[in-house]
Amino acid sequence: MSDYDLDLFVIGAGSGGVRCARMAAAAGARVAIAEERYLGGTCVNVGCVPKKLFVLAAHYHEEFEDAAGFGWDPGQVRFEWSRLRANKDREITRLNGVYRNLLEGRGVRILEGRARLLDPHTVEVAGERLSARHILIATGAWPWVPDFPGREHVVTSNEMFHLEELPRRAVVVGGGYIAVEFAGILNGLGVKTTLAYRGERLLRHFDADLGAALAAELPQKGVSLRLRADVAGILKQPDGSLMLQYANGEEEETDLVLYATGRKAYSHGIGLEECGVALRPDGTVIVDAFYRSSVPSIHAIGDVIGGPELTPLALAQGMALVSTLFGAGPRSVPLTNIPTAVFSQPSVGTVGLSEEEARVACTNLRIYKSGFRAMKNTLSGNPERTLMKLVVDADTDRVLGAHMVGPEAGEIIQGLAVALQAGATKAIFDATLGIHPTAAEEFVTMREAVS
Ligand code: NDP
Repeated sequence: MSDYDLDLFVIGAGSGGVRCARMAAAAGARVAIAEERYLGGTCVNVGCVPKKLFVLAAHYHEEFEDAAGFGWDPGQVRFEWSRLRANKDREITRLNGVYRNLLEGRGVRILEGRARLLDPHTVEVAGERLSARHILIATGAWPWVPDFPGREHVVTSNEMFHLEELPRRAVVVGGGYIAVEFAGILNGLGVKTTLAYRGERLLRHFDADLGAALAAELPQKGVSLRLRADVAGILKQPDGSLMLQYANGEEEETDLVLYATGRKAYSHGIGLEECGVALRPDGTVIVDAFYRSSVPSIHAIGDVIGGPELTPLALAQGMALVSTLFGAGPRSVPLTNIPTAVFSQPSVGTVGLSEEEARVACTNLRIYKSGFRAMKNTLSGNPERTLMKLVVDADTDRVLGAHMVGPEAGEIIQGLAVALQAGATKAIFDATLGIHPTAAEEFVTMREAVS
C-alpha cells in the first residue's frame, strides 16, 4: 500500500487532464483532479465546441443566399446574437455536467480551486493538502497579446464567447487558426470584418496553397483582408469606437479588435519552478518521450508542453500516460500524420506533410492538385472554389500529405488520415472507387501530377 493519499493528482480539468484522470481511475488508481475555472477546459468552454457552434451559426448566412438558386426564397432573415449565445451557454453547461459525471462516475475526486505544488509529491488546493505518487500538469495555454500602445482595448478569443452585443465592425489581428476562424464567424454573423495579418501568407505553417486559396476566398465572402499589416497602436475615441493605427500610417475605425496572436503555456504561479521542473523560455514544460518532466514524479501533457495545441493530441497523450504509469507499459504519441481542420469559411483540412516539408524530406515528389467549383455552386452561383491536393513520394508512391480548402474539409480529411496512417500509396488511392457525385471523390480521381 502506497504512503501517498493518491496515486495521481491531475492539475487542470481540460481535455487531456480529464481523459487521463478518468482512464487512470478506470485502471484502479486513486485519482483527484483540481480545476480553478471550468470543467472541460478551453476546448469545451472557450474553444473547439462553442467555436464550432458559432461557425455553424455563421454559415447560415451563406446558406440562405445559396438557397435562392435552388428555388427557395427565405424571405426576410434576421439574426439574434443573444439567442445564439444563450443556447450555446446551455449546451456548454450540459457538457460541464457530462464531464463532472464522467469523473465522479469513475470515482475521481474533483477539487475546485487553484492548485499549487508544495513539493514533488504534494499539492495544495483551497487550503487542503494531498500527497500523490504522480502529479500531472495539464493546465493548457492562455491567449497571448503582444505589448503595444492601446493593448488594453483588445479582446481575445476568451471574451468572444461572452460578448454582450455583436459589434457593428471588427478587426481580427493574426493569420493563424483562431484569426481566420473568427474572421469567418464575425463576417457570417453580419459584422463588417477586417482580417489584419502581419505576414504575406495566412496559415503560414500549412501547405502554402491552402493559405493562398483561403486568402482568395475571404474577400469574396465579405472579409476585408489586409496582409503585411502591422498594428502600431489603438486609440479609444470619445464615442467608444476604436481607431486602429497601422505601421504604414493607415488608420481604420472599428468597434472591436480581436487579437488572435497565439497562446502561451499556462505554467506560471503553480509552483513548478520552485519544485525544480524545467521550463522553456516560452513557459512550456520540458518533458521526455513519456511526458515526464525533469522531476520524475511530475508529468505534463497537452498545450502546456507546446504544440501542436490540439484536443485529440492531448487526449492521446493522456491515454499514453495512463498506459505508462498504470497500464501495459511506456507509450508515447508520435507527432506525425496529425490531421487537423481550421473551421474558417471555407474550411481547411490537412494531414501529413505539406509540399514544402516534403521537399525537404524527399528527393522526388509528385504533386496532384484539383481546383473546382462544388456542384452546389452551379445553381447557387456562389463563386467559392474547392482545392484538393496530394503530396506523393515519387520513389515509394506513398501519399505523404492530403490537403483541402472547401466545404467539410475536416470531415473529408479525417477519412483520408486513416489512409495515410495505414501508409497508403497513390496506387491505392487510384484503386479506390469514388462516391459520385461528391467533392471527396476528387481525392481518388486525380490522375495527372502537376509537378
Ligand atoms: P497560431 O499560432 O495558429 O497563429 C498565431 C498568429 O498570430 C500567426 O498568424 C502569427 O503570425 C500571429 N502573430 C504572432 N505574434 C504576433 C505579433 N506579435 N503581432 C502580430 N501577429 C502575431 O495561434 P492561434 O492563436 O490562432 O491559435 C493557437 C493554437 O490553438 C493554434 O496554433 C492551434 O494549435 C490551436 N487551435 C486549434 C483550432 C482547431 O483545431 N481548429 C482552432 C483554434 C486554435 P506568424 O504566422 O507571422 O508568426
